[in-house]
Amino acid sequence: MNFFKNHFLKLNRPFYRLLALPMVITGITGCNLENTGKDKQTANDKPNFVIIFVDDMGYGDLGCYGHPTIQTPNIDQMAAEGQRWTNFYVAANVCTPSRAGLLTGRLPIRNGMDTNKRRVFFPDSDGGLPQSELTIAKLLKEADYQTACIGKWHLGHLPEYLPTSHGFDSYYGIPYSNDMDPTTDLGHRKACLNPKIEYFNVPLMENTEIIERPANQHTITKRYTEKAVAFIKGNKGKPFFLYLAHSMPHVPLFASEDFRGKSERGLYGDIVEELDWGIGQILNTLKEEGLDNNTLVVFTSDNGPWVVMDHHGGSAGLLHGAKATSYEGGMRVPAIFRWPGKIEPAVIHNKIGSTLDLLPTFSKLAGTSLPDDRIYDGYDISPVLNGEADVSPRDEMFYYHGLQLFAARKGDYKLYFFKNNPAGYPERMEKLEDPELYHIQHDPSERFNLAEENREIVEEIKEMIQNHSSTIEPVENQLDKIIQNE
Ligand code: MG
Repeated sequence: MNFFKNHFLKLNRPFYRLLALPMVITGITGCNLENTGKDKQTANDKPNFVIIFVDDMGYGDLGCYGHPTIQTPNIDQMAAEGQRWTNFYVAANVCTPSRAGLLTGRLPIRNGMDTNKRRVFFPDSDGGLPQSELTIAKLLKEADYQTACIGKWHLGHLPEYLPTSHGFDSYYGIPYSNDMDPTTDLGHRKACLNPKIEYFNVPLMENTEIIERPANQHTITKRYTEKAVAFIKGNKGKPFFLYLAHSMPHVPLFASEDFRGKSERGLYGDIVEELDWGIGQILNTLKEEGLDNNTLVVFTSDNGPWVVMDHHGGSAGLLHGAKATSYEGGMRVPAIFRWPGKIEPAVIHNKIGSTLDLLPTFSKLAGTSLPDDRIYDGYDISPVLNGEADVSPRDEMFYYHGLQLFAARKGDYKLYFFKNNPAGYPERMEKLEDPELYHIQHDPSERFNLAEENREIVEEIKEMIQNHSSTIEPVENQLDKIIQNE
């Protein structure tokens, strides 16, 4: 752990400044998106982007997604004013690979950010998101955006992997999950279900420095919100990208005094209602600062609910499965897009979208180009957002569990090759003798296997997988690297 501390205290060089020049020279040439001339946009024409990414919130945990007791008036209002998607997926079913997918537009199997062993980074991890990856922040820096990362990072906590080395001008948050660095003998589960700040020695960081340890998680949602509001106010004259990755409602749950004991859904509901309050603060700030019509706000979650944490975990609603599974409940998440004047209010229930699509979509909207030296798994979904397209460019989804392709979706059908414990933990991965096929639109709870009577669809999906698999190349694994103590 001394090695860890020393790294933070001594190496606080913002590496990305050195990397910016080669990015300019090599990165922005071969464009695989139509050049619309938008790269001549002036600073004021470029839209601002805000991603609000919550942790372990399930598909069924919001009022506007049908929760019967949790009150989320601000998120519900955001949904009423924007697009609420019901077929929207994360890139992976746990934190680290899901975040890597969102920020790079690439499946984590392409950059070593998922594995069959360690699925996420831990305080003893020695790896991180490789510098060769282009994050949304790095991409938008090239278009003169101001960029901030607030919240949980979880893409490597050593200096060369932190947000300030990946295109963000500033960082404020915890570098990995809020249940890590345990200090109690109670055991993980007991400590999580009876949470106290001192049980988890998680650091709070500002840029590359630790400023508080353990982080006071009771006030963390409030403080992230205050930082986000300050960033928006401080950058209203320039295009900006705010990536607000809330640590909550990941277990252990901590609410501030104002929200504790207030919800009808117990502590988990208190947490979600505090998050909802924070989102209201951000949306109000955008309105007050006159930024509403020039800002795309995206709200989503990094994976499904952690249901083995009993009533401290969320709910996937009618979906089968949970966090750490590739059933729908593990990877289908709430997703809301709001941009008054640009996005017509709607519920998008017959189109597929993914966090993988955010990078290409933002690139298009900001008038930047993507380098053509890598494969992207995301699509530009801006035509769906602005109502120009009746069909989503995405018709498929690949559900990896570590390095194994657990299932794949094409159109309305999803084909499974493995089964697993639907609660996520303990894992019980088992290869199916015969792949199982589900009609996801008719049967979102995945109850009726239709493989027998739909052999041609099974073959069609297998062919799609074959084409996809031929594009996957072996890469250095980042998650199995462990810090060796001196
Ligand atoms: Mg998570």
